[in-house]
Amino acid sequence: MIIDGKQIAQHLKEEMREQVAALSAQYGRKPCLDVIIVGENPASMSYVRSKIKATEYCGFDGELIQLPETVSQEELLRIIGERNENDHVDGILVQLPLPKHIDEQAVIEAISPEKDVDGFHPTNVAKLWLDQKTIVPCTPMGVMALLEQSGTPLQGRHAVVVGRSNIVGKPVAKLLLDKNCTVTIAHSRTADLAATCREADILVVAVGRPQMITADMVKPGATVIDVGINRIADGRLVGDVDYESVAPIAGAITPVPGGVGPMTITMLMRNTIECYKQRINK
Ligand code: NDP
Repeated sequence: MIIDGKQIAQHLKEEMREQVAALSAQYGRKPCLDVIIVGENPASMSYVRSKIKATEYCGFDGELIQLPETVSQEELLRIIGERNENDHVDGILVQLPLPKHIDEQAVIEAISPEKDVDGFHPTNVAKLWLDQKTIVPCTPMGVMALLEQSGTPLQGRHAVVVGRSNIVGKPVAKLLLDKNCTVTIAHSRTADLAATCREADILVVAVGRPQMITADMVKPGATVIDVGINRIADGRLVGDVDYESVAPIAGAITPVPGGVGPMTITMLMRNTIECYKQRINK
């Protein structure tokens, strides 16, 4: 089975659009997401364009703030502070990565936790690990939504997450744990990656190495979620999983593009609505 992230994301966005129309009518204003981009990195610009398109589709308000590559950290923090104070703004997203002269962690921590639609603020990270209601990072939430939509049973099954980044690997492992999976986190120092991966009923790969996971590393029938997005020499976008060889033996698999990517953006919309609802109810 191919898990069609694009179709699932579209369906969820349609539901959210209706929800936003109803909420806006009830509360007299739309959810508002401000997106800040620094510099002109083509990949970042393309992600931001997709995010803005999705906010328009869902009926949000919002502003795109484009800052030059040379903007100072101080100025960026000032702009974030202004948005924190602005009662009309529900969510603030700063597109990463940032130029080297800016301390990314300082920027993440400058965003008010209640407007942190990416779920990267230490307060929200701590809440996630303490089982408290919080804003969950978008890509991990997208992975979980794909597993749910594909009907993959989770309880008691062995999930292997390859990659331990703060934005994907670690939070996805926590969410799988919450669903009662037995979770292994593999990384670049894992002694026998192929053997570890072969134990997985559910294999989530977030490494950033094109087509690294090959058929010999996958248990027949496993559900494979490929988070990777890599542009290779011939210009194609490919995942971290070698789709051609793995698809025939996997029970279910996400394609790249059209798998996790569209879900990430959809979950950003969901997080913005959550921030809006929490702020309205305050
Ligand atoms: P990071 O570079 O932050 O982390 C990569 C992880 O992979 C690290 O934990 C690293 O291990 C591990 N790793 C690297 N090489 C190997 C190896 N040879 N064997 C086993 N593990 C390895 O990446 P991200 O988590 O930010 O992103 C991962 C991928 O997901 C990228 O392709 C990125 O573009 C994509 N992505 C896609 C998104 C989407 O919306 N679909 C959103 C976010 C990311 P160690 O810690 O030991 O160094």
